[in-house]
Amino acid sequence: MRELRCQDVGQQDCKFVAQGKDDNEVMQKAAQHAKSAHNMATIPPDVEKKARSVIRETR
Ligand SMILES: [Zn+2]
Repeated sequence: MRELRCQDVGQQDCKFVAQGKDDNEVMQKAAQHAKSAHNMATIPPDVEKKARSVIRETR
């Protein structure tokens, strides 16, 4: 599994963790979360790049 912590993208008070079988699935969930929780209608390219770089492997 792949996992992305919202905290690692700079949202220090957010405990959200997106998980998926691959990076695209994780980014899809993260995008939905960013929209509903952080009022980001779309994820800017620099944020997406950062997010992809901090996705980690989990078991
Ligand atoms: Zn968040």
